[in-house]
Amino acid sequence: MARMLKVEELKAIQQKPKGLTRADEQVITVKLPSKGKHGYSDVVHLRPLKVKDVKALVEDPIEGELDYMRRLVQVMQNTVLDEGFYVHEMTIPDFRKILVAHRVNSIGKDIDLTFRCTCRDEVQLIRFDLMKLEEKEIAEDYVEPVQVGGIQLRFPRVWGYLPEGKASFDDVNDYDVLKSVVMGKEVDELLLSEAKAALEFVRKWENSYGVQTEVELPCRYCQKKVIVPIPFFLLISLW
Ligand SMILES: [Zn+2]
Repeated sequence: MARMLKVEELKAIQQKPKGLTRADEQVITVKLPSKGKHGYSDVVHLRPLKVKDVKALVEDPIEGELDYMRRLVQVMQNTVLDEGFYVHEMTIPDFRKILVAHRVNSIGKDIDLTFRCTCRDEVQLIRFDLMKLEEKEIAEDYVEPVQVGGIQLRFPRVWGYLPEGKASFDDVNDYDVLKSVVMGKEVDELLLSEAKAALEFVRKWENSYGVQTEVELPCRYCQKKVIVPIPFFLLISLW
């Protein structure tokens, strides 16, 4: 299986010794909104970003969204100081949190957001303070894995959204994502009733916690509020 190979490769890269004892480096401590409910720690320690890190994102041509995302995951992984903490095994809400933490600590809390209002054909720009983003912690009653019939389910992981051989998010389908959700059974072997239950589980929890993903900004002409998504995956490459 090509996908598993990728995971093994990532793990092999991460074998180099790491620790929290290096006195020469500043440590960024990030509290994750999932509160340890996904089988990994509720806190992750990161070293600050360096030029060598972001080079991988700006100098290489962006062949496709998912290729960029895979590099972004590796860049984040390289900054993790905790032994055995794998960024591709995080959930997307936790991944967004470490992207914001890096942006705020290494580059700054302000970002220029651009948008268009329906009242006129003009790109507007507003400087936004990322510290103003609200964050919701995972529900107290959330547990995983959840037993549904003969299968066990857990929250989707970053690698579920980055299937091998696919180039853009538009190509990623529900079955790709379910690979990271269903435990103990191949997705292809699921009964349709099980697949349905798994998808309902994902829909129920997918956006239930984490950093706010979009903001409302006022149009400078008609004052109407326009919904603008936060470009999380560009936070460390757009200064
Ligand atoms: Zn307007």
